[in-house]
Amino acid sequence: MEKRELLYEGKAKKVYATEYDGLCIVSYKDDATAFNGAKRGTIMGKGVINNRLTNRLMRLLVENDIPTHYVAALNERETLVKKVSIVPLEVIIRNISAGSFAKRYGVEEGIVFEQPTIEFSYKNDDLGDPLINSYHALALKLATQQEIDTIKSYAFKVNEVLKSFLLGHGIELVDFKLEFGRLPDGTIVLADEISPDTCRFWDVNTHEKLDKDRFRRDLGGVEDAYQEVMRRLMGD
Ligand code: ADP
Ligand code: UDP
Repeated sequence: MEKRELLYEGKAKKVYATEYDGLCIVSYKDDATAFNGAKRGTIMGKGVINNRLTNRLMRLLVENDIPTHYVAALNERETLVKKVSIVPLEVIIRNISAGSFAKRYGVEEGIVFEQPTIEFSYKNDDLGDPLINSYHALALKLATQQEIDTIKSYAFKVNEVLKSFLLGHGIELVDFKLEFGRLPDGTIVLADEISPDTCRFWDVNTHEKLDKDRFRRDLGGVEDAYQEVMRRLMGD
């Protein structure tokens, strides 16, 4: 597989074209940002860890009948994926209160919900990824009703599969963000990444944070937390 021109450079990854129209290569960087890019830094080794973790979890989801963009791991930092047109909605599922939910509603972190919640943000950096509901998403033609229904049902299924897998490795899945895309024939598949950058992971016993909140909140031990998640899920 040949890496051709850089199609897009984001905050955490680069996306390259390949000699095949329908495939691209995602390359994971060590760069870290938070608060819509206002806080910047480097988490040494993050790219390698997020690449490996995302691929592990994407394979797990494929085994559980969730269609994804994953094709093959190429090397430590790079993965071959199906090129999709990203649906510009960040899909956030929550099992436990934290982050912007706790802030918005004035509650403490750590409330375990009886049912998971779902919300969407409009993926638009200039606007700061504002919260959006499905009526507004339809009005803006970001997705069709059928696509939104499919995305919701996949997102809750992803939650069930990841929650039980992670719990088996001593990790509580607090919340996470997913992105979906359209293949050329219109099929919706899970895309982007699933990593400590995009999920909140807490140790099941101590509730220690094992995710990007260590970077966002200057808690220290950022690299160690990413390593710990990798050790628990991949055995090294
Ligand atoms: P951001 O754009 O938020 O800074 P990243 O640095 O992670 O994020 O950049 C990766 C970009 O690639 C994101 O915009 C994401 O939506 C997009 N992307 C993820 N998977 C695919 C895919 N399979 N095909 C095309 N684009 C993808
Ligand atoms: N998230 C993400 N990208 C974003 C916003 C949120 O990956 O642009 C993830 C975040 O890591 C967390 C979940 O989505 O696991 C919920 O984030 P929240 O809305 O609480 O926002 P934050 O506290 O990150 O501002």
